[in-house]
Amino acid sequence: MRVLITGGAGFLGSHLCDRFLDRGAEVLCVDDLSTGRLRNVEHRITDPRFSFVEADVSVRIPVDGPVDVVAHLASPASPPDYHRRPLETLAVGSRGTENALQFAAAHGARFLLASTSEVYGDPQVHPQEESYWGNVNPIGPRSVYDEAKRYAEALTSAYRRTEGVDTGIVRIFNTYGPRMRPHDGRVVTSFIAQALNGDPLTIYGDGAQTRSFCYVDDLVRGLVAMADSDDPGPTNLGNPDEHTMIELAEFVLRLTGSSSSVEFHPLPQDDPTRRRPSIERARRTLGWAPEIGTEEGLRRCVEYFRTRAADEVAAARAALIGGQMDGAPVARVPVTVPAMRASDTAATV
Ligand code: NAD
Ligand code: UDP
Repeated sequence: MRVLITGGAGFLGSHLCDRFLDRGAEVLCVDDLSTGRLRNVEHRITDPRFSFVEADVSVRIPVDGPVDVVAHLASPASPPDYHRRPLETLAVGSRGTENALQFAAAHGARFLLASTSEVYGDPQVHPQEESYWGNVNPIGPRSVYDEAKRYAEALTSAYRRTEGVDTGIVRIFNTYGPRMRPHDGRVVTSFIAQALNGDPLTIYGDGAQTRSFCYVDDLVRGLVAMADSDDPGPTNLGNPDEHTMIELAEFVLRLTGSSSSVEFHPLPQDDPTRRRPSIERARRTLGWAPEIGTEEGLRRCVEYFRTRAADEVAAARAALIGGQMDGAPVARVPVTVPAMRASDTAATV
């Protein structure tokens, strides 16, 4: 099997490269290194079944030979990344997705689209089922990402209907783990890096908004199951274990043993108030469900950042102090989280 992975040098893409290589596939990793890093795949560079091609897939996909699966993951994913690269985000969701679909059509390949829970926007239905059409502000700052992904889903569905491409759409919910950049501005990385550096944890809003966090190994297993199937989706992939950002801060403080305080900063515009996947469809069609609990996943992630990425965590300090990586002014209200016992799992601030 020969697999083309766009965005293969990113966080999720690099783990997907590993997963396919481990089961004997040949992997072509195409990435422009805009938010990804060669170090994510450098341990594979000497593997004859692995090739890295540096290219912007919104322009073209310079790959020859047969391909059985196209996994299209190229796109900024962290809010600070897509705020910094709004036009590139729209381009890769539209032109990049069309190039990848045309490539799959020309090669008779299965096409896997990495869509997102952001297509549900700030959801009025909870938990989110695939049948829900979402609540997205089409002109707000998040729209460059949300609407690009919604367009990518529309394009993928049209190629399936009109060109007969074997497509599968997955809607990925917040996923975390090793190889994330500690300064990428996402909440898990920010809290862990801040806790390890002894800096205040930056909570946006009142911290009552929720997310449901999936460990990368579980997510990648779901991506492979989707690639192996002929399911068109859309299929949610995520861990339904839902937590407030205050609870997440408490988890991180306890797992790191940090005595950092927490600070409250303004909530970014259109920040979804709650998010939890219904994964009944994934259970039924793919036999998939996450196996790694939030606490265990966070423990593994903390261990990674504490040991293998310690230099990066220290270097991320300047970028993370004060929160809101776009440099917007913030009001700070220092609050100290009370010391927690090892047995506490969901104490409140
Ligand atoms: P990431 O930023 O680590 O990876 C994205 C990769 O795409 C990077 O390596 C980047 O360099 C590459 N890329 C971006 N634009 C490109 C272009 N025009 N041409 C070639 N390469 C390009 O992010 P991630 O978390 O690994 O996300 C991967 C995919 O999964 C994205 O499509 C994202 O929307 C989706 N997703 C991720 C999450 C999550 O929680 N991690 C949640 C929902 C959806
Ligand atoms: N968030 C936070 N502090 C941070 C970064 C993010 O409180 O330093 C919040 C953010 O406002 C959102 C949640 O954490 O409510 C998840 O943010 P993230 O950027 O990780 O993912 P997304 O918003 O895309 O789900």
